[in-house]
Amino acid sequence: MRKISADWVYTLSGAPLKNGVIVINDKNEVVDVLPGNEPSLDVEFFSGIICPGFINAHCHLELSHLRNKLPQRTGLVGFIQNVQQFREAKEEEILKAIEAAEDEMIQNGIVGVGDISNSSYTFDQKRKQRVNYHTFIEVFGFNPANAESIYNRAEELLAQAPQIASITPHAPYSVSEKLFELIDNTQLLSIHNQESKEENAFYINKTGDFLKLYQGFNLDISFFNPSGNNSLTTYFNWMGNGRKLLVHNTFTAEDDVDYVEAMGENFWCLCPNANLYIENGLPDISMFVKKELKLVLGTDSLASNTQLSILEEMKTISRHFSSIDLELMLIWTCKNGAELFGWDQLGTIEKGKIPGLNLIKNYTYDAKTGKLLLTGQSTVSKIC
Ligand SMILES: [Zn+2]
Repeated sequence: MRKISADWVYTLSGAPLKNGVIVINDKNEVVDVLPGNEPSLDVEFFSGIICPGFINAHCHLELSHLRNKLPQRTGLVGFIQNVQQFREAKEEEILKAIEAAEDEMIQNGIVGVGDISNSSYTFDQKRKQRVNYHTFIEVFGFNPANAESIYNRAEELLAQAPQIASITPHAPYSVSEKLFELIDNTQLLSIHNQESKEENAFYINKTGDFLKLYQGFNLDISFFNPSGNNSLTTYFNWMGNGRKLLVHNTFTAEDDVDYVEAMGENFWCLCPNANLYIENGLPDISMFVKKELKLVLGTDSLASNTQLSILEEMKTISRHFSSIDLELMLIWTCKNGAELFGWDQLGTIEKGKIPGLNLIKNYTYDAKTGKLLLTGQSTVSKIC
């Protein structure tokens, strides 16, 4: 048994506890949570904030060997072309980078990951179960003639995937309507949504940089008829009624949000550091907060981020949207993340759960609201 306390304990299942005490057993299961009292001799006291382990809702672990290899601010089309050009590497190099990236996530307090896979490179690492994974086996192919063969290959990968997995579409500009129809939409689906302005332009009137991408692939897209609407309000109907994770949302407008929110339960994933890396822009996070969307956080891959750290994503949000406080962002990444993936043991500090405990140091207060805020110097370490 350990009794652990800190300046603040954010259980996320109730109000923050000043000097709250968490009792855990030797399996790191929470046995009790006690309100603040005077530190006693058998309590381990940490200076800082204790919160549950983080969920990284969007990552591509298999691209970890591309760290520091791709130029920044090329726009999405340039980025995709660079990934295609540079992703091939020796298997040994790919596997080593995957293991190092997982180590880094664990060190940064990440306990669960929604991970995109186009291959089986990450499967052996995931079998070690050091981290909870939901693997999204991602399909990619805009030519409807190839839809069935692409889907069949994904089913083969799905059969080998460890832990939990589902087949998912890559993005509205890279998946044909026919391929969308083949996907089992009773499963949890994820999609890269409105990551660039070009995606909306393509759907509205078939213009923009994506035309260059298809030319580069030698793909005749005469079959594609623009809808006159933004991408989201066009393709969303092709994804069924199940739970969906919309990733990036950098160019998502209020009308798009209203359309989708009227159609069931969705989670919206923010990956701010990747957005700055690729497009040098950020989603309208204030609008998402105002609408009380179910938000989660992701790092995206080391091809478009310099680190795999949810704390660094939260710090970027704090820097650009200074009124967003720490507790709200912790609800996004811990509680909402666990709910999204159905990980009942994670997300909040409550009796019977094994959420992992993180320690955040160096924070400040909002003078007006008294809420806790991150600073540029905030750090995270894992207690258990
Ligand atoms: Zn991604």
